[in-house]
Amino acid sequence: MFQRRGSVVGSEEQRQVRRDQAADELNRHGNRQDGQRVVTRLADGFTLLRTSLYERVHRDVEQVLGRDSMFLPISEVKAEKVSKTEIELYQIAVASQMNRRRRYVGADTEWFWQWLARLRLGRAATDPLVIRRIGEYLALDEDHGRLAFTDVLAKALPESRRAPLVLFRLVPLAIQIVTAQAFGDRPTAEALRRQQVDILPAITDCRTCRGQLLESGTHCPPCGNPVWRFQWLTAAD
Ligand SMILES: [Zn+2]
Repeated sequence: MFQRRGSVVGSEEQRQVRRDQAADELNRHGNRQDGQRVVTRLADGFTLLRTSLYERVHRDVEQVLGRDSMFLPISEVKAEKVSKTEIELYQIAVASQMNRRRRYVGADTEWFWQWLARLRLGRAATDPLVIRRIGEYLALDEDHGRLAFTDVLAKALPESRRAPLVLFRLVPLAIQIVTAQAFGDRPTAEALRRQQVDILPAITDCRTCRGQLLESGTHCPPCGNPVWRFQWLTAAD
């Protein structure tokens, strides 16, 4: 019933090598055996969020509101690549802040974000600009981080300014849910979903998923859960 989506960054083989390395590193660093499962859930979950969020702020905006000629990007391919990288940087930062609070992987916060950056960005994880950008996010609280993210996304993809604001309040919680689910922390994931329902009660109106938590990396086609469709985001109660 709930569908998966593939990644667009790197070949399938490269992705698998990165996942295997990340799983080994996590097992060693955290003295644990579930590295593969954690990595799979994180990677599938973040790839789905990235792909879905890009669709919402790009395709959905144009389909529902129409294309605004002022916002035509010079190169759509470039805009997509930059936008998806921006989404990844933000996901890495939000997940790392959550790990800092929850201590899923020890107390070494530096290790966690660098590890997650290698998993999500590969060699780009050592790019000084990438390191600086993640560091800037990590220094911000949740609200300021979200505002910084919407700003950089709007620079890469001006039409994202026209997406319903509620989307940007739901996304950080969705990133935290993926993180909690990856580390098997179901109560926290449920609590975060309740926060999302408080923000957008229409989440529970979907007759297919009823707004329930889905397995990481899967989504509900009718409503878009965990990145809700435009029509759901603008539904009045
Ligand atoms: Zn649904």
